[in-house]
Amino acid sequence: MELELERIQLPGVPEERPVVIAGPCSAETEEQVMNTARQLASKGLKIFRAGIWKPRTKPGGFEGVGVEGLAWLKEVKQETGMYVCTEVATAKHVLECLKAGIDLLWIGARTTANPFAMQEIADALKGVDIPVMVKNPVNPDLELWIGAMERLNQAGLKRLAAIHRGFSSYEKKIYRNLPQWHIPIELRRRIPNLPILCDPSHIGGKRELIAPLCQQAMDLGFDGLIVESHCNPDKAWSDASQQVTPDVLDYILNLLVIRQDTQTTENLSELRKQIDECDNELIQTLAKRMRISREIGTYKKEHDMTILQTGRYNEILEKRGSQASLCGMDTEFAKKVFEAIHEESVRQQMEIINK
Ligand code: PEP
Ligand code: MN
Repeated sequence: MELELERIQLPGVPEERPVVIAGPCSAETEEQVMNTARQLASKGLKIFRAGIWKPRTKPGGFEGVGVEGLAWLKEVKQETGMYVCTEVATAKHVLECLKAGIDLLWIGARTTANPFAMQEIADALKGVDIPVMVKNPVNPDLELWIGAMERLNQAGLKRLAAIHRGFSSYEKKIYRNLPQWHIPIELRRRIPNLPILCDPSHIGGKRELIAPLCQQAMDLGFDGLIVESHCNPDKAWSDASQQVTPDVLDYILNLLVIRQDTQTTENLSELRKQIDECDNELIQTLAKRMRISREIGTYKKEHDMTILQTGRYNEILEKRGSQASLCGMDTEFAKKVFEAIHEESVRQQMEIINK
């Protein structure tokens, strides 16, 4: 299914990249919300975020101030002129936000992963024209992410955007949530006119990672950024380690290098021609390899041998891994490529054996 989309145009918000949304993880007190919003507005930011219903991993944590916070967001809007947005996870949240005149909504990662909740939200939004940003589900499942957006789209919502906030993993590495950039890149390929924002706060989980992640997102052609910013980050009631002051955010944004992808120069098209030739050779070589593999399959069939010869497979992975490393490539990358090649090779031999 194709999404039927319309641009999210907000009067007064410049269209050029990046569109930036900023504000605290959670609205905590009226004072904290207003103080942060005033500072962000003075830096020229136009869209304010703050969560008022907070999905927490375990009970007992700060679960958000609830509807009380909507009044503070209204105040932000009135005083600073910024657009305001918050997270909705139930139909009741949606109705409260619409009543309060919230400008944009976002769907949290845990909600995107739940089709029942998504359908309930979509039903509550039927006939309403409001921009909705959909965070990726916590698990790396592009179909689930797209499915959530399809539900909203079928309910008539056309002003949609995606937020890439990384994917959870059992092993904690430097990131709180692994970026797995190939997933938003594939989303862009599948739905080219869908705006994609990056959430470096939830990907990184640490302040120091915000700047490099913002730059990476810009280099990949993302449309915008949603960054957690708090007037006193160390004292934040949720996600303290990943929030920055409005001052620091402004500093980070000013240092970003925004490259355009529209200037396809002569040089670039010459290099692209060379890439096309390489890809052509790659496919031809792979086809040749598969033909040889099928011959081996015939031999194995005639001699009643098993297809899978583990020793040989390990030898290939190791040999090509170290060769790749000598040629300036990542060993893991070579392993992945050869795993994929081997899988196809086995499939080809199975065809021969079962003939
Ligand atoms: C948030 O934006 O504060 C939030 C809870 O994000 P996520 O749904 O990405 O965890
Ligand atoms: Mn947060």
